[in-house]
Parts: sequence; C-alpha cells; structure tokens
Amino acid sequence: MTNEVALSKFGFISIFPEMISALSDWGVTGRALREGRYSVDTIDPRDFATDRHGTVDDRPYGGGPGMVMTAPIMTAAVERAKGLLGDQAPVIAMSPQGQVVDERLLISLLKQESLIFVAGRYEGFDERFISRSVDIELSVGDIVVSGGEIPAMLVMDSLIRRIPGVLGDELSAEQDSFVDGLLDCPHYTRPEIFEGETVPSVLLSGDHARIADWRAAQSLKRTLERRPDLIAESDLSEEQGSLLARWEML
Ligand code: SAH
Repeated sequence: MTNEVALSKFGFISIFPEMISALSDWGVTGRALREGRYSVDTIDPRDFATDRHGTVDDRPYGGGPGMVMTAPIMTAAVERAKGLLGDQAPVIAMSPQGQVVDERLLISLLKQESLIFVAGRYEGFDERFISRSVDIELSVGDIVVSGGEIPAMLVMDSLIRRIPGVLGDELSAEQDSFVDGLLDCPHYTRPEIFEGETVPSVLLSGDHARIADWRAAQSLKRTLERRPDLIAESDLSEEQGSLLARWEML
C-alpha cells in the first residue's frame, strides 16, 4: 500500500453545513477530529447571498423544473474556502455526472494537503461555476440523491480512515476491501458455534501462516464470485491458481 498521505484539511461547502456532524461527531471520524488528525471548515453559500432571504439559487434559463445554484454565489463560497485552505486546494463538486470514485482516485486525493468539497442541491450548479472553479466532478455511483452532502461525506470518510493513526489498528485499513484490489475475507467472532454453524476450523488452529493463506484464498474466491471485474483482465496468476487449489476452491 502506498502510504503517502499529506491530506489533513477539508473544506465543506453546503447550504446545510450542520450535516457535517454526521462525520465530525461520530465513530472513527469523530474521534480523529477530536484528536486533531484532520480539520473541516464549513462554508455556507447563503453567507454570500445578496438578498435578505439568503437566496443561492435561481430559475433555469430555458425553463423547466427545479432551481440552479448560481455561479456568483458558489464562486464566492469557493473563494472563501480557498482563503481558509489555500489556493492550491483542489475543488471537488459532487455530481451524478462526475467521475465515479474508486480506490485509485482516493489514493491520488490523499496526496493533497487540503481538499474542498462542494455539495449541490436542487438541479445542481450553473455550468459556468463548474467550468471555471471546479477541478473534479465526483460521483458516488449511478444513482441520484437529493444533495451532495452525503456523497461528499461518504468520500471524506473513506479518505479520513486512511490518514495514519485514524484507525486504532494500523493494519485494518490495509486489509479492507479494494485496498489490494480484492474484496476482504469473511470474518468471525464468538460464539464458536452459532445455531449449529461453526467457525472455519483453520481460524481456531493458531497457525498464523495457514490462517493468512486461507484468508488470501477466501479474498480471491470472493472477488472471483462477486466482483470478477476487479480481477485484472488476464486470468489468474500461477500463484493465485495454486493458492485456490491448496484450499480446494478451484
Ligand atoms: N439534476 C442533476 C441532479 C441534481 S441532484 C443531474 O441529473 O445531474 C442534487 C445534488 O445532489 C447534485 O448537485 C449533487 O451535488 C448531489 N448528487 C446527487 N447524486 C449524486 C451522486 N450520485 N454523486 C454525487 N453527488 C450527487
């Protein structure tokens, strides 16, 4: 695993900045914030509205349903974020039309010191804001949700847990699915027998080399069964073939 992590500062631009608490207050990402392993500055585009109502959107040219977040207001919000985080911070706008996030992209994002995430609402952003101020349009998959906050936090969470020291057990991020290009192996904990079903005996053997071998074989088998698209175009390597054969999984 490449361990070049520079990332520690996030900007979160949203008309619902309090939503960040789902990330900043809970679990591993909450603890990491309290420990100062990363910071988040929230920016509310409404602060840059010019009317009393804090309007950030307007009707679409050409007609049709929905509203569009305006270029001047979103640009001002990004400028504020850059003032806080630095001009070099890449601006990532969440959009179902963006590149779909994956492990490779996450690794490249971890090399940045700071990132600015922009959550859309309504029909999304004026296209001129995207072309002038946004570096990456990022999607979390071929589904549409009602705002970019949850997609942005989904990506931020996955980045934060890769910052060294965030996960209690340093090894656990390396063993996660996708990190080595494969799905994770199955996990078991007590009780040893649940409704008549026992834990695979190898896991009780105390033979750590054999356990590691079984887990590697399980990872490979799962990936072949569930996500054959993740295995490189070519067939199994000789080594992978013999791994599966050892455990009679071929
Ligand atoms: N009319 C837009 C969708 C707007 S949904 C379109 O069809 O492209 C409102 C906001 O939710 C978007 O601006 C975006 O920030 C966020 N969003 C919705 N689906 C998303 C997805 N799959 N990935 C990332 N962000 C998404």
